[in-house]
Amino acid sequence: MPPAHPFDDDKLREECGIFGVSGVKDASSFVALGLHALQHRGQEAGGIVTHDPTQGFNSARRFGYVRDNFTSTDIMETLPGPLAIGHVRYSTAGSKGQTAIRDVQPFFGEFSMGGAAIAHNGNITNADALRRELIERGSIFQSSSDSECIIHLMARSLQRNIPERMEDALRRVEGAFSIVAMTRTKLIGVRDPLGVRPLVLGKIGDGWVLSSETCALDIIGSEFIREIEPGEMVVITPEHGVQSHFPFRKQKPRFCIFEHVYFSRPDSILGGRSVYETRESIGRELAKENPVDADLVCPVPDSGTPAAIGYSLESGIPYAMGIIRNQYMGRTFIEPTEQIRNMGVRLKLNVNRALIRGKRVILVDDSVVRGTTSRKIKEMILDAGAKEVHFRIASPPTAWPCFYGVDTPQREKLLAATMSEEEMRSHLGVDSLKFITLDGLYRAVGEAGGRNPATPQYCDACFSGEYPVKPSDMLAKGFEMKEAAE
Ligand code: SF4
Repeated sequence: MPPAHPFDDDKLREECGIFGVSGVKDASSFVALGLHALQHRGQEAGGIVTHDPTQGFNSARRFGYVRDNFTSTDIMETLPGPLAIGHVRYSTAGSKGQTAIRDVQPFFGEFSMGGAAIAHNGNITNADALRRELIERGSIFQSSSDSECIIHLMARSLQRNIPERMEDALRRVEGAFSIVAMTRTKLIGVRDPLGVRPLVLGKIGDGWVLSSETCALDIIGSEFIREIEPGEMVVITPEHGVQSHFPFRKQKPRFCIFEHVYFSRPDSILGGRSVYETRESIGRELAKENPVDADLVCPVPDSGTPAAIGYSLESGIPYAMGIIRNQYMGRTFIEPTEQIRNMGVRLKLNVNRALIRGKRVILVDDSVVRGTTSRKIKEMILDAGAKEVHFRIASPPTAWPCFYGVDTPQREKLLAATMSEEEMRSHLGVDSLKFITLDGLYRAVGEAGGRNPATPQYCDACFSGEYPVKPSDMLAKGFEMKEAAE
């Protein structure tokens, strides 16, 4: 399935959202709503697994949006029970863009002590090596997804119960993982020792909820309790409530800083602070670091909006909606003709001509990946009669691929990997182009002293090239780390 919009390949894309509920009637309906609120984390496919004491495990996995599948009575009636987990995906490691339904999570495994289903957000950086080893030892894989390794490692563990088998399995796994899983009676949540991807805990009536983001707790009226800590496993049962374990060697957390910039929804809470507020602070930092004389500050909608507001507040330059987004660009053009594809960005964004004409415009965007969309937007703004165009970017130059559950083009396709800032400015054809610095970004997310270069507080590998977990499969395929590449 192609991307939902013809130019969406010019953004990094979060690859998964996960959600789980226990202790409520018709848990699958809550999971469907939660996944709907997490749809920005993956639009290609979704799946739900449930358990009912009389009807056992049931599952449904479908391509397309949650709203187009998991609202139908025909499907939802097949998913009874008080315990359910679900997953939305773009495409994780595996068959990118040509997913088979067998790659759609949650995955299910039948063990001697009963079944278990698992949904994973992140990426296992040693999955190729693990898969080879498991196949040599007799495992038969059903999918091309790296996450299936966890089920096979659990099957080989000698531990007596499923949470302990999962601990065993996850100790062999490298990379980033936030997981929701379930047995017949337990809802389980785990975050990798660095806590790269998010996972939060909520309460609903007598039941419990696990979710990638707090915005999905809000939609079902669930109370946000806390974030699952890096390296923590929670096992939730009706009898004992939430039991917490720390099965991994303790490490200094390295949460994905890009969740603050772009991936998470602005109405979610991360690190005790609203993502919207953080993005506004990013805009303020950007304005302090990179002022310019202009008439208007306009966001590239929607993701650039809070940073543009911050830039405007800090600089005193009026904020305006110079670009209007068509909210209804949905599945209509999912398989566009060549002619429509060439219209590119105009399908989704239109310039507010009356506002732009004769103005010096600051455009605020969250990131520059390939630069193709930025170029088209600049053309649209100039066509509309703008006098000057200044790009201000709410993240540092994206010069390195992400191997922790975010879809990134190959390094050579990243504009910042091959060009200096001045070369990028000239390539985009704008009057000025400036990015927030890494230190500025750290300050904006709440690290007053900026980035600690000896022990960075976040994962920022896509900007710095410093990978907190060695991407061993990619190194085996010839990827060159920073020291080797430079
Ligand atoms: S490499 Fe970038 S996108 Fe990936 S986890 Fe790290 S900060 Fe996030």
